[in-house]
Amino acid sequence: MIGTTGLVFNEPLLWELGAPGREAYSLPSREVPEHPVDPALTGPGPDFPDLSEPELVRHYTRLSQWNLSVDSSMYPLGSCTMKYNPKTNERQASLPGIANAHPLLPDDLAQGLLRLIFDLERWLAEITGLPAVSLQPAAGAQGELTGMLIFYAHHAALGRPRTKILIPDTAHGTNPASAALCGFTAVPVPSGPQGILTLQTVADRMDDDTAGIMVTNPNTLGLFEENIRQVADAVHAKGGLVYADGANMNAVLGVVDMGAMGVDVLHLNLHKTFSTPHGGGGPGAGPVCVTRALEPYLPVPRVAREGSRFTWRDDYPSSVGRLHAFYGNFGILTRAYSYILSLGAELARVSRLAVLNANYIQAGLKADYHLPHDRPCMHECVFTDKRQQAHKVSALDIAKRLIDYGFHPPTIYFPLVVNGALMIEPTESETKETLDQFIAALRAIAREAEQKPELLHQAPHHAKLRRLDEVTAARKPCLMG
Ligand SMILES: *Cc1c(COP(=O)(O)O)cnc(C)c1O
Repeated sequence: MIGTTGLVFNEPLLWELGAPGREAYSLPSREVPEHPVDPALTGPGPDFPDLSEPELVRHYTRLSQWNLSVDSSMYPLGSCTMKYNPKTNERQASLPGIANAHPLLPDDLAQGLLRLIFDLERWLAEITGLPAVSLQPAAGAQGELTGMLIFYAHHAALGRPRTKILIPDTAHGTNPASAALCGFTAVPVPSGPQGILTLQTVADRMDDDTAGIMVTNPNTLGLFEENIRQVADAVHAKGGLVYADGANMNAVLGVVDMGAMGVDVLHLNLHKTFSTPHGGGGPGAGPVCVTRALEPYLPVPRVAREGSRFTWRDDYPSSVGRLHAFYGNFGILTRAYSYILSLGAELARVSRLAVLNANYIQAGLKADYHLPHDRPCMHECVFTDKRQQAHKVSALDIAKRLIDYGFHPPTIYFPLVVNGALMIEPTESETKETLDQFIAALRAIAREAEQKPELLHQAPHHAKLRRLDEVTAARKPCLMG
């Protein structure tokens, strides 16, 4: 069989189920005497349907299956690192002492929680090679904003605020947006023929009005920026700083030292790399990691250790201020803590397997799909629809057809520098059997594109909703379908 098992999509409304008098609950017998209800509060109630418990459970369980999720099948959404999140990390985050902790607990009653923050900062410093960390930002993009505020504060402290930021044309859209939100002008830098930055293009644009560069490494083409050290030197030589978007850290955990690469500020996406399920807009956590020189600018408050005691401190006069109420999204910090603690040095294997899996898919699909940069990739590979375009089949058609085979579509039309991009990130969690199934599905789709292009234009055929009107869906979103 090509593809995975299908999903059940025909589900009536609750009002079309059940029968009068059925109950889906039973209350324990009363221990207190009955008390008459105020007649003003009784009378005809709302028109609720009567269902039995299994009817109710099955209804909602079936509804929950309408979503393709990483718990039901492979989710190769490039740039998003939709990997399987071990359930043990969920369990730790829901421990009562953690899940129910009140943010206003006095320090003395929250020593374990403060220690978790303190330790997680140290571990992320070890993993990135950047010694000072704030876990406060609530998302990757907010980490970027924090980084840009730090860039600004650094130059302002030197007496000369700068106005521009260099951003490669492969960057995630949040990079220029964060720079602009902070008042910088984004200056695009074209990547070279190899899909990576060249020293010359950066050096040509770097001047003393440019605050620095924002680089994603590995970049969004899934390629390692091999010239990063020389690029960083050129930026530093002109007094600039280097920001690394670390959303792609899943490719280089325990393998690459970002500090040694010349990075001054980096954000991580705990909800991509460190085991928090994501999608649908949050919550997340985007810690920022910085050099010692930039540590004074980190957001406040910060956890400090005084002897064996942990405490909050906000006496950092150069800090960029507070980015989040209380201290970030603590449940996500807990998952990351549990993930790192349970894997230890095995974290490096996570990245090796993520890279191996992406290269396996790249090799398996090369004969059927155009590969714009034919060289080993990191954690994701980028194909295009160029060959299928000969049959008037687009990346969108291919992505939609993949749904019929039981897989979530890959990212399409990103990065913007690749026409008709199909960006596939399998992650480390998939077995060889699943990767083979995925490759077989995409190869079958390539054959369909040649023989039955109409089938692809109308895909998906087996989904709850068929081909959506993309324009109306974007302009007038109606999530009820
Ligand atoms: C996901 C992502 C971001 C943004 O992270 P959010 O948590 O969604 O704000 C930034 N850069 C890259 C490369 C990403 O993949």
